[in-house]
Amino acid sequence: MNTREQRFNCPVAARCGGCQLSRMNYQEQLRHKQQKVEQLLSGLCPVEPIIGMENPFHYRNKVHAVLSVDKRGTPISGVYAMGTHRVVPVRSCLIEDRRADRIIQTIVAMLPKFKLRIYNEYTHRGFLRHILIRTGEKTGQIMVVLVATSLEFPGKKAFVAALVEKHPEITTIVLNLNQRETSMVLGKKETILYGPGFMEDELCGKRFRISPQSFYQVNAKQTEVLYRKAIEYASLTGRETLLDAYCGTGTIGLCASDGVKSLIGVELNADAVRDAKENARLNTVTNAKFVCDDAGRFMVKMARDGFPLDVLIMDPPRAGSDEKFLSSVLTLMPERIVYVSCNPETLARDAAFLVKGGYKAVKAVPVDMFPCTEHVETVMLLSRQEAR
Ligand code: SAH
Repeated sequence: MNTREQRFNCPVAARCGGCQLSRMNYQEQLRHKQQKVEQLLSGLCPVEPIIGMENPFHYRNKVHAVLSVDKRGTPISGVYAMGTHRVVPVRSCLIEDRRADRIIQTIVAMLPKFKLRIYNEYTHRGFLRHILIRTGEKTGQIMVVLVATSLEFPGKKAFVAALVEKHPEITTIVLNLNQRETSMVLGKKETILYGPGFMEDELCGKRFRISPQSFYQVNAKQTEVLYRKAIEYASLTGRETLLDAYCGTGTIGLCASDGVKSLIGVELNADAVRDAKENARLNTVTNAKFVCDDAGRFMVKMARDGFPLDVLIMDPPRAGSDEKFLSSVLTLMPERIVYVSCNPETLARDAAFLVKGGYKAVKAVPVDMFPCTEHVETVMLLSRQEAR
């Protein structure tokens, strides 16, 4: 059977809630997302056909497991049942990387032998809270992050040795400290137990280093498709000054850097900025600069200084951009704006603001980065209207 007609038969779909579209086959999911984006962008610009995946299964390179114990006190791993803090056991998932799921199962099975206790959210006692795994699609590298209530534990060396012996594919293990009573997975402090403390992956022929705290797109295959579209929409000639706003580890800008005169990236997360600078060095990109700042605040400064900006690529989080940022864009008036969005609702809102300020929304294309879920990524091209 064609993967596009295949259904996502998952026994825990209803309780997990992560895959809101599991009742539809993939073809239907794509139609649903296309319609949603068309509806939200109607009146703004035409929407090209959504770019889906050849094989929409096991695409998630970032896998998060919450730990708990069952009625008999045996450790289990899984996800929080939708809207609760009850853990639904999950041994394998249709959208997660299989290697990550296997490593999580191994760790859970090893816990009793190493006398590592699972954290209890109610009593706040216990050691291990979450396991986070990130895998490199092209490099095959695997980063394991153990989130715990202490950076020390007896038998640390033996535990790491046993885990790496069972899974030699693991390239680094990091222990992250989270003692807070919060649903944030990662705390700020960490210590490296094995390997370099980060993982690397490749996108569009460039190599990227990703730290545990840095943002990295969860679907690497589709990320390349997305970035190629963004770069195509940017129509770079080699003469432009490009700003990559909300740049994370610098991935979009660095993938575009061969086609521009100079690149500036701005990003709020300091770890991601450190990775971005390292990524420029790793790829011998010499025309790039990365700044750690709030994108809005940075843009206001650029507007005040009258910085000559030709092309803006922006990729804000789900909440979209803010007025500070967008009004400064309207002061700088770059010729083209490529808006990469993970939320078509805020994209529609922000694009309407830019259109009112003198831009034409030229075209948009949805890219399916998150099969089986309600989420959809969209790239939009806006170009400056010459006669204002
Ligand atoms: N373009 C990158 C990252 C996109 S995710 C990629 O494709 O990988 C959005 C990024 O915006 C995250 O890295 C997040 O840390 C950053 N961010 C969130 N709020 C921000 C703000 N106010 N100013 C600058 N960056 C911000």
